[in-house]
Amino acid sequence: MKIVKTVADYRALGLQDVGFVPTMGALHEGHLSLIRAARELHEEVVVSIFVNPTQFAPHEDLSRYPRPFERDVELATAAGATTIFAPSVDEMYMASPVSIHVPVVTELYEGAHRPGHFDGVATVVAKLFLIVQPKTAYFGKKDLQQCAVIQKLVRDLNFPVNLYFCDTVREMDGLAKSSRNVYLSPEEREVAPELYRQLSVAKERVEASMSFAETENQATNELAKQGFVVDYFSVIDRNLFQPANPDTREFAIIVAARIGTTRLIDNVTFDR
Ligand code: AMP
Repeated sequence: MKIVKTVADYRALGLQDVGFVPTMGALHEGHLSLIRAARELHEEVVVSIFVNPTQFAPHEDLSRYPRPFERDVELATAAGATTIFAPSVDEMYMASPVSIHVPVVTELYEGAHRPGHFDGVATVVAKLFLIVQPKTAYFGKKDLQQCAVIQKLVRDLNFPVNLYFCDTVREMDGLAKSSRNVYLSPEEREVAPELYRQLSVAKERVEASMSFAETENQATNELAKQGFVVDYFSVIDRNLFQPANPDTREFAIIVAARIGTTRLIDNVTFDR
C-alpha cells in the first residue's frame, strides 16, 4: 500500500491504468463495494480520503465528521486499493480558489438545501481527476444527484474519464450505509429504515398510477408522523434532476430528512 499526501508525491508514482474511488473516509461497505468494482478492472486502485471543506455549509458537520484514518487504510487495502491519496486542505486549496458551477442539475433538492455544496463537489472532483488521472472513476448511486452533477461535469468539460455508478449498499433492514449513520442514537437508528420503506412504497404507488403529488404527500406525512423533518420527498426525472412530468421515463424518488441532528438522504430508481 502506498500512502501519498502531496500532488508531487502522487505524480512521482507515475501510475498507469488507474481506477479511482474518491471518498471522505470513514469507510464502510458502500465505499468498499466501489473499491472492489475498481479492482476488477484496474491494475491500480487509488482511493482518495479528503474531507472537502468547500462542500460543507457553515452550519454543517465538517468539524465532527468522523476521521478514522488508520482503520480506513486497513479496510481499503483489504478491499483491493493499491494507493491512498490523502492530501491536507492546504495542499488542495490556495487563497481565492477557482470554483466550478454545474447548472440545472444542481438547482433543486440537495442543491437548494445545501447552498454551495455542489460547487464544492464539482470543483474537488475536477481537481482530483486532474491530479489522479484515472481511466475510470467510481461513484455510488446513494448520492444520486452527485452522480448527475459529475456526469454533466465530465461531459461538458471533456474529462477523459469513464464513470461507473455503483448500486447502493444497505443494512439488512434497508437503511443505506452512510458515514453519518454513526451519529444516530439507538432510538433514531431504529426508525431510520423507514426512509427506504417509504421510498419503496412510493415507487409501487407511482407504478400503480398514483399521482406524483399524492405519492409525495403521503410519504412526507408518514415520515413526519415517525419523527422525521423532511427536507424533500420528490418524484423526479433522474437525468435532469427536475420534477417528473407525464413524459418522464427514467425516474427517481429521492428523499432527504432529518432525525434529531442527523440528515439522511436516499433514493430509488425505476423506468417506465
Ligand atoms: P463519501 O465518503 O460519503 O463522500 O462517499 C464516497 C463515495 O461512496 C460516493 O461516491 C458515495 O456515493 C459512495 N457511497 C456512499 N455510501 C454508499 C452506499 N451505501 N452504497 C454505495 N456507495 C456509497
